[in-house]
Amino acid sequence: MKNDNLFGTLRAAFPADLDAIAVETADTPQPLYYTWRDLERGTAMLANLLASLGLPPGSRIAAQVDKSVEAMMLYLAVLRAGHVYLPLNTAYQAGEIEYFVGNAEPAVVVCAKRNFGWVSRIAFNAGVKHVYTLDDDRSGTLLDRAASQPDTHEPAVAQADDLAVIIYTSGTTGRSKGAMLTHENLRSNARVLKDYWGWQPGDVLIHALPIFHVHGLFVAIHGALLNGSPMIWFGRFDPKAVVARLPDATVFMGVPTLYVRMLGESALTREQCAHMRLFVSGSAPLLIETFNAWRERTGHTILERYGMSETVMLTSNPYRPESARRGGTVGFPLPGVQLRIRDDKGRPVPTGEVGHIEVKGPNVFKGYWRMPEKTADDFTDDLWFKTGDVGKIDADGYVTIVGRSKDLVITGGYNVYPAEVEALINELPGVAESAVIGVPHPDFGEGVVAVVVPRPGAALDPDGIVATLKTKIAGYKVPKRVVVVPELPRNQMGKVQKNVLRDAHRGLFTPA
Ligand code: AMP
Repeated sequence: MKNDNLFGTLRAAFPADLDAIAVETADTPQPLYYTWRDLERGTAMLANLLASLGLPPGSRIAAQVDKSVEAMMLYLAVLRAGHVYLPLNTAYQAGEIEYFVGNAEPAVVVCAKRNFGWVSRIAFNAGVKHVYTLDDDRSGTLLDRAASQPDTHEPAVAQADDLAVIIYTSGTTGRSKGAMLTHENLRSNARVLKDYWGWQPGDVLIHALPIFHVHGLFVAIHGALLNGSPMIWFGRFDPKAVVARLPDATVFMGVPTLYVRMLGESALTREQCAHMRLFVSGSAPLLIETFNAWRERTGHTILERYGMSETVMLTSNPYRPESARRGGTVGFPLPGVQLRIRDDKGRPVPTGEVGHIEVKGPNVFKGYWRMPEKTADDFTDDLWFKTGDVGKIDADGYVTIVGRSKDLVITGGYNVYPAEVEALINELPGVAESAVIGVPHPDFGEGVVAVVVPRPGAALDPDGIVATLKTKIAGYKVPKRVVVVPELPRNQMGKVQKNVLRDAHRGLFTPA
């Protein structure tokens, strides 16, 4: 019988020499070297452990664990065993875990030893029968139990359309939803990216992203595995340590904040990057200033791409020629991905005009786990997925993201796109960055507020910022209030948490 299990696809790309190094750890007390055979055997033992539990196919296996090579193996083993992986952000607290466990009803929960007390209580109360521990020092009951399992395992038969992963959205604009991704969603995207980004023999990936999110778990890991490329593995991002390893690598993937932090390292030079082939950024907007500073310092042009949990990757700047990578844009729809811009009523918009981004393709998820109504709401009648992002396509076909539609500010009946105002504020002297939000206003419904971070040592004058903006944009777009703060709240993927800002400033125009 044909087996469309994604694990089989990745396994088939392992190099012929299984004793070659697949992963080298960069920040464990001693470097650890995992061969391809180690990955093959370790995932077989973990898959056999899961098989020994006698779970029905498609059972959910939830993991809230620190990043480790064994945690990656657990993901691969879940695919291999024909179950559904459910990665959970390590920052989630009891209330959140209770929601995810209640919603996804996992058969197995794996957690860090230090959290076993409260996680197991939540899990057992919800009827979960198996709770294991896994730490980032190769210890825990999961590995203890797997140690006695056979080290060969025939991948479970999976159909292309079977679920592989449920990934909960980060919920910066509401309750987290479980995006259901199939083996084929992930495989098709991994194959497209392998081609589009020119993965080649000799590539080595620096993996410094978390692995509970699409960027680190899919784009990075699938990229390296599908190319049979070794990874230099960081449990945590440390700019100095990553910069030090650039001469040993060819590909790096990061969220914008990682690039900003690496630019703070004097060791980041053209020579240090001479061996590198590709720097990819995504998950949050890359400031044009970072894009330019990186090019100036390293001679490399960061390739920005755009995607989301529900769709994996959607667009990318071109790989070649490097000069065609345009800062501030996310490039072109990937091969096989269709992308269109619609107005509020679902009608096409003229080229260059802003509207809602809708997409279609083999990478687009099956729907939200146990939320048929929410799923129906988020697809059009002709089955395009409404991404919730607002953007435009220019005459050359480049896509630009303007923001999340839920972050759109409607003031006195006028739409204000935060990104437009933020871009102008960011250009002002002394400004490091900014976030524009809407908060309740008695006259206008919402009032525009700018939350602005000064550059180190700069003193900002809120009234001066307002006065300057008045000369540049329509009055209704100009912030009614400018608040200066030392930094913006960000989640672990580097996204500005506008919901946190809205909550913090919701009383600015209205009494509590
Ligand atoms: P997540 O599902 O957590 O990966 O979040 C996906 C969202 O991140 C998208 O819907 C976009 O709003 C945002 N995003 C991802 N990549 C980019 C990018 N390159 N530029 C701007 N926003 C991005």
